[in-house]
Amino acid sequence: MASVTFDDRFMRELPGDALSERRPRQVRACYSPVEPTEVAAPEVVAVWPEVAELVGFDEDFVQSERFAQVMAGNALLDGMRPYAACYGGHQFGNWAGQLGDGRAITLGEALHPETGARHELQLKGAGMTPYSRMADGRAVLRSSIREFLCSEAMFHLGVPTTRALSLVLTGEQVMRDKLYDGRPAPEPGAVVCRVAPSFLRFGSYEIHAARKDLDILRGLVEHTIRHYFPHLLGEDVASGSSAAASDVPVSDAHIVAWVREVAERTASMVVGWMRVGFVHGVMNTDNMSILGLTIDYGPYGWLDNFDPGFTPNTTDRGQRRYRYGYQPDVAYWNLYKLTNAVAALVEDATPLQEALDHFPAVYSELQLDMMAEKLGLASLEGSRDEALVEGLMAMLARVETDYILFYRGLAEVRCEGVEADAVDAEVLRAPLMEAYYSPDSHNDEDWEAIDAWLRAYVARVQKDGTRDEARREAMNAVNPIYVLRNYLAQEAIDQAEAGDFSGVYSLMEVLRAPYEERSEWGRFAKKRPDWARDKFGCSMLSCSS
Ligand code: AMP
Ligand code: MG
Ligand code: MG
Repeated sequence: MASVTFDDRFMRELPGDALSERRPRQVRACYSPVEPTEVAAPEVVAVWPEVAELVGFDEDFVQSERFAQVMAGNALLDGMRPYAACYGGHQFGNWAGQLGDGRAITLGEALHPETGARHELQLKGAGMTPYSRMADGRAVLRSSIREFLCSEAMFHLGVPTTRALSLVLTGEQVMRDKLYDGRPAPEPGAVVCRVAPSFLRFGSYEIHAARKDLDILRGLVEHTIRHYFPHLLGEDVASGSSAAASDVPVSDAHIVAWVREVAERTASMVVGWMRVGFVHGVMNTDNMSILGLTIDYGPYGWLDNFDPGFTPNTTDRGQRRYRYGYQPDVAYWNLYKLTNAVAALVEDATPLQEALDHFPAVYSELQLDMMAEKLGLASLEGSRDEALVEGLMAMLARVETDYILFYRGLAEVRCEGVEADAVDAEVLRAPLMEAYYSPDSHNDEDWEAIDAWLRAYVARVQKDGTRDEARREAMNAVNPIYVLRNYLAQEAIDQAEAGDFSGVYSLMEVLRAPYEERSEWGRFAKKRPDWARDKFGCSMLSCSS
């Protein structure tokens, strides 16, 4: 097989930093050429083979010592011209100025030998860059495992995301505040190679707008539209048949259409998060992909019991800006910041405003479809359905209910051939008992609320007339049974830190098939054990890992 080749389109087409030193500085350009810093003893501990295939790497290469060297940042393949990207961002609602790739280094854009598909390969934890500020440019094993596993878990759940190729131990120790030990402790260092068509973020545009570097901003917007949204420039460009993307002028209307599409993609991504119970944890504008991909797996978490106020991020405990239930609002706010940034490029900002305001409408529509699917209903319409969904939310929050197990249980509730009002309460509830954290503490009113909602649900399903088996199948295809629960990740991390990666490998198997129940995977489908409640590392994480 021919091998992967590398292109440096981003660097060729956009202005870069004049220096290639690592020392921290303000950079009024799109990137800084910088090489990864060598590490002592690279050791590949895990690879997602489907991502290797996606990029075009063959098995022999993946098994080779050269692969380990490249994925640790110790060697470059022909054509790779590494760089760190410059971007800014709003963090927790405040403009933070220049941030940039402080510990991520893009190696190059890989061209698949057969399909020609283009993927950016980026090492995270590969050493200092001009954007490292006060930090070390390194990543610890625990945060690398979390990114490595969760990227692919999300992909297999059907939620748009950046991908993960490899997890490499560096053979070096990294110092972090292990706050839960109360003292700083050295931890194993690691490098993850992540993969996406592009890692451009909202903050990539904001930085140049903030500095009033409008030429750079325009160049970057045009680059983005031409390469990642070519269909917006017309069919000829998209199919590559005649006009080359670089020849078509990018108009105000194109920029408006682009913002509108970014809004749509972002809505679709967040609806995916809400469906599977994912809480990103740090939705700063520098962590919002321009392609609508879930990006930057830091202090993310998963709902165990349904709690719209849950945030896994310890830095966010007061404000709770990044809580589960607020994610759509934050996405909208972030889009507003992106729109503001590019407004300087167009003559009339009104259509841009309209493109932005497209978000709440699209989001509501997608969210309603998603809820209907989760419930196994053909659609949700009218005030009675609205009341059904409201009642559901109230019921889920009323008593501690596992978000994942609830929907899998609901799929088992018998609706066919029963009389909704007459079903025995015990029979009605039986499939849901697994989902309750402390059923013994439910009082009579709790049970009455649950029963009443279930009877309304049964009647509503009967209105659609869907067969129980078809409904179960449809529901189980959108309601996962296996997600990367915070405590499951933590167990695998604890083992890995002791040198045993078998927990990581087991999770890699299970997370590949999140909707397919298998008896041998029973222990991955359990609700959070009591020891993991509010435990640091399990459901509480900091940004700075
Ligand atoms: P994040 O919270 O992961 O989105 O990171 C925010 C900013 O901090 C980004 O510019 C990161 O590159 C930078 N950063 C985070 N951790 C490190 C680190 N260990 N070394 C250098 N820069 C870092
Ligand atoms: Mg980030
Ligand atoms: Mg991060």
